[in-house]
Amino acid sequence: MAPESKNGDFTIFDNEERVIKQAEELATSFDAHAKLVHDNMKSLAQGYRRSFREQQRLIRLSDRQQEQLRHMTVELQDANERLEEQAQKLEGLNSALQEEIAQKKILEAELRAIAMIDSLTGVYTRRQLLEFGNNELKRFLRKEHALSLLILDIDHFKKINDTYGHSVGDSALKHFSEVCKNSLRTTDIIGRIGGEEFVIIMPDTEVDEGYSVAERVRMNVAEAPFLIGDAEGAFALTVSIGLYQFTKNDHSFEHALSKADSALYEAKGAGRNNVTIFKEGF
Ligand code: GH3
Ligand code: MG
Ligand code: MG
Repeated sequence: MAPESKNGDFTIFDNEERVIKQAEELATSFDAHAKLVHDNMKSLAQGYRRSFREQQRLIRLSDRQQEQLRHMTVELQDANERLEEQAQKLEGLNSALQEEIAQKKILEAELRAIAMIDSLTGVYTRRQLLEFGNNELKRFLRKEHALSLLILDIDHFKKINDTYGHSVGDSALKHFSEVCKNSLRTTDIIGRIGGEEFVIIMPDTEVDEGYSVAERVRMNVAEAPFLIGDAEGAFALTVSIGLYQFTKNDHSFEHALSKADSALYEAKGAGRNNVTIFKEGF
């Protein structure tokens, strides 16, 4: 038991009690600080944990996105390669198409030439000649100028075929065409309208001048020797020619052709190898 002071307000334990009180107050204050430190540490730890989890979440997210990006890049590269392949295929198809178009144009030009030019003799076909004839007739009817027409038929051509064969006959047709072409003016138009029958359209040509042209052709044919095969022999062809000069009453080229044909018939009847001018009544 601690001694007490005599005057009642002081004992010998006063000091100890004060120290104990101070210690108790210090302990209380430590407790309060410790709690504060504890609470602060706890919330700091929670904060760290949250931040750490968020970082983890962000890292996982970033990893996933990077993976997705890698996938997308690979897919894009694949798509790009496929596109390049398709572009190459398209280029191939395109050049094939261009080639086909070029071939088609060549074919069309060939077909046009076949329709226009007689492949054996190189003169115009019947179809082309009739087209030119109808155009010339229209021009003749519109303007003041003459138009004449010749129809030519090789004499006794059947005999050539029968004697020397069909291919010699063909060569004779070529030879005949060459001689005719060389005897014509640049404005004259020659075509083959049948086996050994030819027509010459002579624009801006009166009957007299037409007759001169026809006579020149006839004589050149008769005088040009035609060589058979390997020069086994040579002979000259002869040709009969009907001449017709158009009048303003003519409205059909084919009809005018039939008039020239009746003149040709007369030429044949007159002994062949001659030029006959059409007259009404033939
Ligand atoms: P004409 O003097 O009366 O005209 O007698 P022609 O023998 O010339 O006439 P015809 O009509 O009797 O005979 C024509 C011949 O022409 C008959 C035919 O076989 C021949 N011929 C027709 N086309 C061709 C051909 O492309 N090549 C050959 N080689 N002969 C052909
Ligand atoms: Mg004939
Ligand atoms: Mg004939």
